[in-house]
Amino acid sequence: MGIRVGIDLGTTFSAVARIDPGTGKPVVIKNSFGAAITPSVLCFRQDGSVLFGEDAKNMQAVGDPNAVAFFKRSMGKDMFSVDILGKSYDATDLSAILLRELKEEAQRQTGETIEGAVITVPAYFTHKERSATIEAGRRAGLEVIAIINEPTAAAFAYGLTERAEEQTVLIYDLGGGTFDVTLARINRKEIRILGSDGNHELGGKDWDDCIARYLAGEFLESYGVDLTEDPEMVASLLVTAESVKKQLTSRDQVSVPIAYQGIRGTVEITEEIFESISQFLLGTTKDVTQRLLESVEMTWAQVDGVILVGGSTRMRMIRDYVTEMCGKPPLGGVNVDEAVALGAAIRANITEKGEAVPALGGLFGRRKGGGLLIQGAKAVSDVTAHSLGMISISPDGEEYINSVIIRKNTQIPAANTKPFHLRTRSKGNELEVYVLQGEFRRPLDNTILHKYVISKIQRTDPPNSVIEVTYQYTADGVVQVSARQKETGKTLPVKVEPVPEDMSWTDLSPREHQGGGKAPAVDVVLAIDLSGSMCGDPTRKAIAAMQDFVDQMDEDTARIGIVAFADQVREVLPLTGDFGRVRQVISGLAEVDVGVCNEAQPFTAAYGMLRKRESDVRYIVVLTDGCWSNISYAVDAAERCHRSEMEVMALGFGSADYDFLKKIASTDDFAALTDLSQLGSTFSKIAQAIGEGSAGLSVL
Ligand code: ADP
Ligand code: MG
Repeated sequence: MGIRVGIDLGTTFSAVARIDPGTGKPVVIKNSFGAAITPSVLCFRQDGSVLFGEDAKNMQAVGDPNAVAFFKRSMGKDMFSVDILGKSYDATDLSAILLRELKEEAQRQTGETIEGAVITVPAYFTHKERSATIEAGRRAGLEVIAIINEPTAAAFAYGLTERAEEQTVLIYDLGGGTFDVTLARINRKEIRILGSDGNHELGGKDWDDCIARYLAGEFLESYGVDLTEDPEMVASLLVTAESVKKQLTSRDQVSVPIAYQGIRGTVEITEEIFESISQFLLGTTKDVTQRLLESVEMTWAQVDGVILVGGSTRMRMIRDYVTEMCGKPPLGGVNVDEAVALGAAIRANITEKGEAVPALGGLFGRRKGGGLLIQGAKAVSDVTAHSLGMISISPDGEEYINSVIIRKNTQIPAANTKPFHLRTRSKGNELEVYVLQGEFRRPLDNTILHKYVISKIQRTDPPNSVIEVTYQYTADGVVQVSARQKETGKTLPVKVEPVPEDMSWTDLSPREHQGGGKAPAVDVVLAIDLSGSMCGDPTRKAIAAMQDFVDQMDEDTARIGIVAFADQVREVLPLTGDFGRVRQVISGLAEVDVGVCNEAQPFTAAYGMLRKRESDVRYIVVLTDGCWSNISYAVDAAERCHRSEMEVMALGFGSADYDFLKKIASTDDFAALTDLSQLGSTFSKIAQAIGEGSAGLSVL
């Protein structure tokens, strides 16, 4: 039986904390150097061993090419990998190695076995980065109890100092490589996160880069030598820059000695210069903070205080900004380096409701009122920093958009179900959904997580099926998709597939995209009733409506054939993609003589034209004004078409009988009674439904 720890897996520094068995208070487990925080650096060696922490950072400082750092910035990025000594590692691999080392070091330091851990992540991490973190923990041999957000962990640590009244606090977390800002309401019993925002590519390192650029610029001006052309010099300049940055926290001016190719120079930098060259970075954190306040409809006046977390909040400009905006200095009592790990240790030993879990090994916590006491234990509810959406077609049909399913700053866990109307044309139907995280309307401006393929959809009768797709955020902020077919009540398998490299089609209009060779080929047989009652005006209007219909069809993908029927049936035009010819035949329909009564039915003829299955989708559109003599014969013939997956649409007007139309149509939705004046618009709806390959549940 082992203990449960909290691990702050930082971009630049990591820390591990546990609950002190005597006091029930979280404490950081110091590393073998006696330090609370350990550099998140690895160094691979020829003999197959790995150095980590201080040892690895020392190797990095002397330019060892086998040292790696900052890999947290690449978490969840499929494209990232580094090759070291003939092996390739992605960010998950490197994090797993670091986690294993941290775990083993903590075990050596405490003499305990570590069984489970809560690992912290920036609140702004997406699904992919979170899943990668869980995977890294698993590979390090840890049971990952939960993933919690770093600011939320810091709120736990702040909660260690009991305060009577409820407070609204802003947690400003600026580390080495990430920035998070979170608003939380904290009272004695509960931490409720109101909202989170951030930027996971902004941190202390960017301030280092500013100083390094400044130093190189000044050196070039004074000595005429460009240091940035030498990669080794750049690496060393960055190390110098970080140290200069730290000195400027307590000193107003620093003289930086730089020796290069026999030149021994010095560059002066003041705190004022530092602030002015990095103003834009501070500005970015200000904008993000403002955006958060706006998104939860709050102002600085409603913020009781600011908790600073992360090494970079030691910079004077950050403290000044916070003091100015909040009207008072940052809240004290929180160690910027340790808070996240301490909070994670609390969370690792309690439930979401704030109750202590029986200690593994039964060692820590003392009894108070019969329960285990973990100091700072509280119920916690968090939110998601990213909206969850899917790629769909805009309501006007003009573009692909991100249609949001779960809004940003919704409390997690959260779930939402969306129905998909699908026409089940055959067995083994599949449905593909692209799931996104982000706030932008244009799909490509968001993070596209995965392509989810929902399979084993049953063919239904009628073929209009509803697939209920449920999207959820777990309490870890991880996305899960599940699906169910409404008619059968069965859960459908959902496969996660990688996002194709080329997603540029999402920038095309759906029409263009579907025209790009991918649109299904469509064959349509127009069957028109030319019995006596259609003479004159009805035929003229039908002809006009059919001409409009042809105009709306896509000549590249569709073929049209025409059947006329009354007492006899005649195939007046075989299927053709030559729309000029189609228009010509339609305009001559008034002259076609097939008798005066409705003795015949058009389905056998249409079936003959479509039976070869030369296209992906086949339609028979029947236009009639009356009821036919031999109904059961017609219905039988229509049903044979249905069975062969030909979609029959039945359009009636005048004295047509709706019940009869429903019998010959493939589904009730494909039967419609209209009147002569509406014929044109009904035909355009049909064209639209056919064009979208749709379902068209309510098209008619
Ligand atoms: P992370 O959690 O992202 O690993 P930390 O919270 O440990 O990061 O913060 C590391 C960052 O804090 C580094 O960029 C480091 O340079 C910066 N930092 C540490 N001490 C100071 C200081 N005194 N002044 C300015 N920056 C500092
Ligand atoms: Mg951190």
